[in-house]
Amino acid sequence: MEIIVAKSAGFCFGVSNAVKTVNNLLEKQKEPIYTYGPIIHNTQVVDLLASKGVKKINDIDQATPNGHIVIRAHGVTPEIYKKILDKGLILEDATCPYVKKIHNLVREKSEEGYKIIIVGDKNHPEVIGINGWCNNKAYIADTVEDIEGLEPSDEKVCVVAQTTITKEKWVKITTELKKKFKNLLEFDTICSATSRRQNEAEEIAKHVDMMIIIGGKSSSNTQKLYDICKKHCNLTYKIETSGDLPPVDIKKIKKVGISAGASTPDWVIEEVIKK
Ligand code: SF4
Repeated sequence: MEIIVAKSAGFCFGVSNAVKTVNNLLEKQKEPIYTYGPIIHNTQVVDLLASKGVKKINDIDQATPNGHIVIRAHGVTPEIYKKILDKGLILEDATCPYVKKIHNLVREKSEEGYKIIIVGDKNHPEVIGINGWCNNKAYIADTVEDIEGLEPSDEKVCVVAQTTITKEKWVKITTELKKKFKNLLEFDTICSATSRRQNEAEEIAKHVDMMIIIGGKSSSNTQKLYDICKKHCNLTYKIETSGDLPPVDIKKIKKVGISAGASTPDWVIEEVIKK
């Protein structure tokens, strides 16, 4: 059996940086170390860090003053920064620079009087964080149907993307927005690490009998990889660890493709390949 592993599978730059930030703190600090939400969407990594004493909190009030708090790659709203400083916590900001760039962009454009539209999932922490930088006033659309209710107008509109959406979704939605708004300013803020990973997985899926996508259950970029590959390879499976591999008749399978979401560590990918 031939196994083709995507070169782009696994940790992206932003996730790798966030995990490194926590590991560096673990080496140096005695004070409590907190992460605001799970540091990445991967249970194995979060559990490993928890076993070393890293506490995951969802409310800043759960932390004790003088502790270190790591903001994950998804970023947060300005209100959260304020709460952290008011509480006397030591901030370790691992917001991915690509996400920070979107924060600055929406802040600047909303101050210039633009209506902000974010293409993405309104419940995703990255989108919630971005929205905070334009006073939580952005219109958030995840489908073409979501923008049907918007009235055409001459107002200045600026549209940005959640970093992990597909190019296909971006093109579909911005094409419709252009019909409604003459003064539309588009910023395709899809992360190149994401599109590279999606393109490579799609190419592999076209040429294999079975495709395996490895990633956390709540990882949206893993889900998107699965959706893309499923269009080309019917036997596409999304798994979290090697223990989730499906019981398939491997005699019928000559080629297997593997890719993994941005939060999947190398050792989890290795275990799947080995199995
Ligand atoms: S997917 Fe891109 S934007 Fe998101 S954390 Fe990774 S490198 Fe940063």
